[in-house]
Amino acid sequence: MDSVGVAAAAPDAGPGPAWQSKCPWGAPSTTSMSCSLADVMSEQLAKELQLEEENAAFPEVVAAAEGPFITGENIDTSSDLMLAQMLQMEFDREYDAQLRREEKKINGDSKVSISFENYRKVHPYDSDSSEDEVDWQDTRHDPYRADKPTTTPRRGFIGKGKDITTKHDEVVCGRKNTARMENFAPEFQVGDGIGMDLKLSNQVFNALKQHAYSEERRSARLHEKKEHSTAEKAVDPKTRLLLYKMVNSGMLETITGCISTGKESVVFHAYGGNSATEDKVISPECAIKVFKTTLNEFKNRDKYIKDDYRFKDRFSKLNPRKIIRMWAEKEMHNLTRMQNAGIPCPQVVILKKHVLVMSFIGQDQVPAPKLKDVTLSGEDMKKAYYQILNMMQQLYRECNLVHADLSEYNMLWHDGKVWLIDVSQSVEPTHPHGLEFLFRDCRNVSQFFQKGGVTEALNERELFNAVSGLNITADNEVDFQAEIEALEKMNEDHVQNHGKKLSTFSSDGDPPIYDE
Ligand code: ADP
Ligand code: MN
Repeated sequence: MDSVGVAAAAPDAGPGPAWQSKCPWGAPSTTSMSCSLADVMSEQLAKELQLEEENAAFPEVVAAAEGPFITGENIDTSSDLMLAQMLQMEFDREYDAQLRREEKKINGDSKVSISFENYRKVHPYDSDSSEDEVDWQDTRHDPYRADKPTTTPRRGFIGKGKDITTKHDEVVCGRKNTARMENFAPEFQVGDGIGMDLKLSNQVFNALKQHAYSEERRSARLHEKKEHSTAEKAVDPKTRLLLYKMVNSGMLETITGCISTGKESVVFHAYGGNSATEDKVISPECAIKVFKTTLNEFKNRDKYIKDDYRFKDRFSKLNPRKIIRMWAEKEMHNLTRMQNAGIPCPQVVILKKHVLVMSFIGQDQVPAPKLKDVTLSGEDMKKAYYQILNMMQQLYRECNLVHADLSEYNMLWHDGKVWLIDVSQSVEPTHPHGLEFLFRDCRNVSQFFQKGGVTEALNERELFNAVSGLNITADNEVDFQAEIEALEKMNEDHVQNHGKKLSTFSSDGDPPIYDE
């Protein structure tokens, strides 16, 4: 083991690549990405160790290692595990297809049929699988904690006399160290060390840990610069596995590529499959919206969800990761409301953690253009305007929602009409800032269509009244805004006094429905 220690603790002992010697601060202590445990460890030694301890191997460690522990960033080259899994999936699917053929042949027209279901390899998407429930950011745990055959008790030792085992026991420690390698960044290749009963000395472990951390930092820097262009590169390994599972279960046929990388989400295109167990019809083309699990981007969205009473009770109890899942959930619920009201919008296919699958607006992998990118004829522009006016009214009255991010960026032009998307932040009108959000939406819509030459377009204040059915008479922006805030405050006071919100803002009679 010592030889490993030397090799790992001093990775720059050998001649490094040319850039290293040129570095004005001397050779950095880390080598290139390809430096893995497998490299620094002789194969001979590995074999010996494996033979020696084959029977004493820890099965739970092996199981953990073949799970979601994916090495490498690019499935084409560096991720053997991912490749193997995908090949296995292919094989399993073929096997199942054959099985189905056999089943059909045997059963024929017979009234009594037998089923080979239990012999199938690929099982439909298992939404209750325990692995799914493990939040990926929470999996950085010591695998020895769950299972306690060798852990030492509080007093620090077990056994008696010369059989005494302390927490500093070399074997136990070594195994722990090896298992802890799992906690290194997924990009850091640790070879087969986890799968075998390898015992790393503290010295080696610490050196590797240091190396892994600096690798992680280095690759994080590299990744920031890289253009995220493919499904594999734009999401973290756990999300990737979630996506592959969707393909594996037959729910999706293929994920073709990335449509959009925003601050808060990444959207992919996929061809829908035909999962037998999903009672839903899966759209032939799907959009997969992956809400980013990096928390920073979401901090400034607190105000949308924190005060949304639908989520209020849950908000305080949730950790930030769960809140991100709630954004996905919110988008799903809002889309469903819109769908029920007949507003053109994506149809929800399935929600999985922070991944929302919906129907694709567009055709043959080409997403429908945003309103801001499409040049419409004067007639279409006018048509689009009246359609949006109607949709805003429907959204407000039938769905009890305010979009809250409505602009030419979140409206797609498809099939000669406007489709609304991106409703994760949408709130109910009685949300403490609901009317302000509505006013902002109205301003965006008015300005876009007034600039676009629609002379009939209402100004933002008229539009606000037309959508909400309120009758705010202020003739300038500042006073109008003040009245909106006063209304919101009145609602909040009502909440304080009565413990519940007004079901709706009172209006002077029915608001006018605008149409062409
Ligand atoms: P973000 O919060 O990143 O703006 P969006 O829901 O607006 O998320 O999606 C980003 C982009 O992805 C959209 O502007 C649109 O081009 C594309 N997109 C999203 N959903 C769909 C869909 N269902 N069909 C087609 N394209 C979509
Ligand atoms: Mn958007």
